[in-house]
Amino acid sequence: MLARKEGKGDPNPNFVQCQNCRKTLFATEFEAGLRVCPYCGHHHRLSWRQRINYTFDPDSFIEQDQELSSLDPLSFPDYAEKHAQAKEKTNLEDSVVSGTARLEGVAVSVAVADFGFMGGSMGSVAGEKITRALERGVAEEMPVIIFCASGGARMQEGLLSLMQMAKTTAAVENCRSRGVPFLAVFTDPTMAGVLASYASVADVILAEPKALVGFAGARVSKQAQVVKAPDDFQLAEWVQRSGMLDRVVERREMRSVLNQLVQLLGSHLNSRRKVLG
Ligand SMILES: [Zn+2]
Repeated sequence: MLARKEGKGDPNPNFVQCQNCRKTLFATEFEAGLRVCPYCGHHHRLSWRQRINYTFDPDSFIEQDQELSSLDPLSFPDYAEKHAQAKEKTNLEDSVVSGTARLEGVAVSVAVADFGFMGGSMGSVAGEKITRALERGVAEEMPVIIFCASGGARMQEGLLSLMQMAKTTAAVENCRSRGVPFLAVFTDPTMAGVLASYASVADVILAEPKALVGFAGARVSKQAQVVKAPDDFQLAEWVQRSGMLDRVVERREMRSVLNQLVQLLGSHLNSRRKVLG
């Protein structure tokens, strides 16, 4: 994911190289800066664990539904092998990790997608975890925060993947009818079936700078266009100007902005009283 600085021998663990501007960075400073390049501002992709550590109160995350794992319902060629390899590589059961955490002491229901697991694709397990995170928010009166990172639906599960779009969107509507706020954060990339379902119907939508956000990929989009696309087409800033998201937020400010939104939109819920009490 992150290019190590290559030397003649082994890579020096004290240095990393920015994937965008290629400048050499001190690894410790890079980590302290939440993996954002101090020179060009590039937000490098995060694992689910880094995301949780950077965002929520220390040691407050409690994972739920970790036992859920995809089967191979369609006997899709090579799916079982690819899924097993992804599990081995990431030490995850699927592309979404969910549970509860605290944000400045307030309980929140959380789901975080990890792009490293089969491109963050949404199959039946990811969809179920997202749905349960939203339902948990309703049942326990907690604001729901979901970090999106996905290439879209998981083609190896065919219609079962596409069904997750309807299921997760219905769960968001249930949140809304019960007055439970749902905040979505688009990280790089948030595409296709995820963008076209629960992610786009959140109460508030934030995005990290220059996150790729779109439905079809650039090549397909280019074929369909009758006018030339702007240079920042499908980047978060362009998507914001187009009215599809509320605010682009730098990573170092994300925790603070989410906290403000939780305080503002979730003040009527039990979560605050429950955790602080
Ligand atoms: Zn850079």
